[in-house]
Amino acid sequence: MLGAAALAAQARARAPGRRRGKDAFDVRRRRTLVTVSVLVALLGSGVAGFATWLSGADEATADASPASVQEVSVVGPRYAPTAADRARPPARITPGTPLVGLTFDDGPTPERTPYVLDVLAAKGVKATFFFQGDQTEKHPDIARRALAEGHVIALHSYEHVYFPDLDQARARDQIVRGEEALTRELGVRPTMFRYPFGEASPVADAVLAERGLIGGVGWDWRSNLKGDFECPGADALTRFVVTEARDEAVILLHDGGDAITCPDPQWQYLPRAIDAVRDNGLEFGVVRPTGRKNGDEETAVVAP
Ligand SMILES: [Zn+2]
Repeated sequence: MLGAAALAAQARARAPGRRRGKDAFDVRRRRTLVTVSVLVALLGSGVAGFATWLSGADEATADASPASVQEVSVVGPRYAPTAADRARPPARITPGTPLVGLTFDDGPTPERTPYVLDVLAAKGVKATFFFQGDQTEKHPDIARRALAEGHVIALHSYEHVYFPDLDQARARDQIVRGEEALTRELGVRPTMFRYPFGEASPVADAVLAERGLIGGVGWDWRSNLKGDFECPGADALTRFVVTEARDEAVILLHDGGDAITCPDPQWQYLPRAIDAVRDNGLEFGVVRPTGRKNGDEETAVVAP
C-alpha cells in the first residue's frame, strides 16, 4: 500500500481533465485529541470569523448553529457569519455561470464537518460530501445536518478501505454496509460513490453496478499545489482552491482523515477561498448523476 506522500505525488501528477484520481491522503493514523478546542460562535454579534476558544471541553452546545438540525457531537471550531456574509446577496446562477464543485471526503467528523457546514451556510454554498459509513454511524446528527442544509451526500465506502486489496466478498461488504449505514441514518439512499484513495478495482466496480451506485466519482487536480491533507496552511490552500477552480471542476477537499490533524488556522482557507473564487466570476454547484453511462461523464457539476 502506498504512503500518503506517494499518493499525493500521484494525485498531482495526473494529466489535466476529469478522471478518477487518487484520494491522496490515506494513512489513517490513530491520534489522540490532546487539546480539544471549542469555538463558541457569537450569536447575534458582529464579531467576524473565529471567536472565543475554550479549551478542555468535550462538547459544544450548538446553540449558535445556523443548522436546522442541531448537532450534539461537536469538538472542533465553529464559524460565525461575518457582517459581509450577512449582507451577501443570494448567489445568481444563470445557464452561463461557470460552476465549481467543492467535494469533502472522509466525514462526517465532529472535529471539522460542523465548521465546514457553518462556512457553507454563511456563504450560501452547496457542496458534495462523500461520507464513510462508519463515520456516519458515529455522528449521524452531523450527517443529518449536512443533508438538511441541502448538500449532496454520497458514499465513500464503509471504513475507507483500499479496494485493490479486497476480494469481491469484502468489496461488497464495504460498499453495501456503507450504503446501508447512510440509508439508515439519513433516510435517503446514496446514488454516487467515490473510491478511497481514488483506487478502483474490477470486482468493486461490479458491485457498484449491481447496486446501481454511480462511480467512482473522481476529481480535478491540474496544479502541483498541495492538497489539504498535506497541511500546507491557509494561504497555500486558498491558492490551491482558487487555482483549481474553473467551470465544472471537481475539487478534492476533506472534512475527515489526515486533514483534521492539520493546525486549526489552516481551516480559515475555506471562507477565504469561497470569496476569492466568487471574485473571479465563478459560482458553486454540486455533483449529480447525469444519467449517462459513459465513464467520466456519469456525473457533472450542476446548479444546486
Ligand atoms: Zn477518502
